[in-house]
Amino acid sequence: MRREINGIMAVLELGRLRGDLEAFQGELMQEFYSNYAGIKDDLITAPIYERYSHLFSVEAIEVARQSLETVKPDEDFRWTRYLRTFSTLGHVENAIKDHTDKANTWETRAEIVFDGENIPYRMVPVRLRNEPDTERRHRLYEAKLAETERLNEILLPRMQSAHDKSTELGFKNYRDMCTSLKGVNYRKLAEVMEDFLKRTEKVYVDNMNGLLQDKLHSSLSEVWSCDIPIAFKGEEHDEYFRKDRLIESFSETLRGMGIDTRGYENIHIDAEEREKKTPRAFCAPVRVPDDVRLVILPMGGWKDYEAFFHEGGHAWHFGTTDKNHPAEYKYLGDNSVTETFAFLFNYLPTDGRWLKRYLGMEDSKEFERFAVLNKLMFLRRYASKLIYEMKLHENRVGTELAEVYMTTLQKGLKFKHSEKNFLEDVDDAFYCAEYLRAWIFEGQLRSALEEKFGENWFENQKTGEFITELWSYGQKFSADELVQTIGYVELDIDPVVEEIEMVLGK
Ligand SMILES: [Zn+2]
Repeated sequence: MRREINGIMAVLELGRLRGDLEAFQGELMQEFYSNYAGIKDDLITAPIYERYSHLFSVEAIEVARQSLETVKPDEDFRWTRYLRTFSTLGHVENAIKDHTDKANTWETRAEIVFDGENIPYRMVPVRLRNEPDTERRHRLYEAKLAETERLNEILLPRMQSAHDKSTELGFKNYRDMCTSLKGVNYRKLAEVMEDFLKRTEKVYVDNMNGLLQDKLHSSLSEVWSCDIPIAFKGEEHDEYFRKDRLIESFSETLRGMGIDTRGYENIHIDAEEREKKTPRAFCAPVRVPDDVRLVILPMGGWKDYEAFFHEGGHAWHFGTTDKNHPAEYKYLGDNSVTETFAFLFNYLPTDGRWLKRYLGMEDSKEFERFAVLNKLMFLRRYASKLIYEMKLHENRVGTELAEVYMTTLQKGLKFKHSEKNFLEDVDDAFYCAEYLRAWIFEGQLRSALEEKFGENWFENQKTGEFITELWSYGQKFSADELVQTIGYVELDIDPVVEEIEMVLGK
């Protein structure tokens, strides 16, 4: 009897949590949007977390846990599980938010003194990518690393607190907490990626050496991580990727698939020039699906197209999500799903057929090789990150992980890394795995689209109907479930490897 009452109470509580979840997400997204779009100078999330702290309280976690015990393994079970994940991970985030704020503030304010000039810490990567003089580039990188050491003094206790919190909550370690809450077998994924590293090693080494010789008159074993972005700058291809074609070519692509962009008044494209607007495109789903913002400061160049098409994929996914879904399916769930749709569009401006049709690039062979090599480098980087993070999150972190970071990344990428980046180069809660799963799923989704609608699937009016149905689910289904609805047994990396081998050789 008592148990039953508890169950009913828990379900009532749950309804309230769900309503607040939507309001919390809306306020948080509005705050991010205002800052990154350059409308507002500061970024203050602490009061929002404060206002909604009950969503991440021990009681909220308990309510979700109890509900999971009482609900049947059907629809209710699904969204209750998402809510439990949100509350528990939010509880950890909330517990370390002072460290997080401190790190963000430090990053916003820190400056590097370089050859008598003060450079904001966050601007250093941009400067590195644009510094053609190797000696100067390496000195700038060294100057940055000296500052990173200070940042580590904030990041280390932050990560240690997160690790402590996970054991306090009754999990074996942080890794176990993420595995159990997100329902992803990271160990198995790490094995798949270890195998991927072996399978693509030769093609990676050969092609990277070719690129580095060509661009920097150097080789893989000689260069540092700070030399890679400039090697992939690809300015010789920029003439095709004009600033004024960016938004237009995206809308034309959707129309080509039979998706009328005029029917999407809920998606606002903000392309206005503002002085403090971030140069990186982003998508802010303020209220799904009614208020989704796609922000861009068009500069031109191939990277711009990748970034805008990526965020466009997110925007149309959230903007097409069924409005009748519970909040959990609109805002929570498996982020590999939305990243998959983002990647599907992300890689269109590197597809020879698309390039010819929309940007008039007749001979795209060289650019395709360049773009696929860039993708392979990123896949190997994220594979290495995952392998490192499996060790990072096994025990309470200490400085000895710095060397593990360096050797793991160097093993996968073959160029030099600094051990000082062992904390800065990590996203919370294994987000690296979300990207890896999305890369894998996107390879399968694209193969399925080619099979169903032809090689030029993006020009087939039927594609829109198929894809908008997948979008309408929001994040109700995980990538593992969704891949089954398009005819596969499970996530499978083979299509990704086949594409790499087809373009770059074996
Ligand atoms: Zn994304």
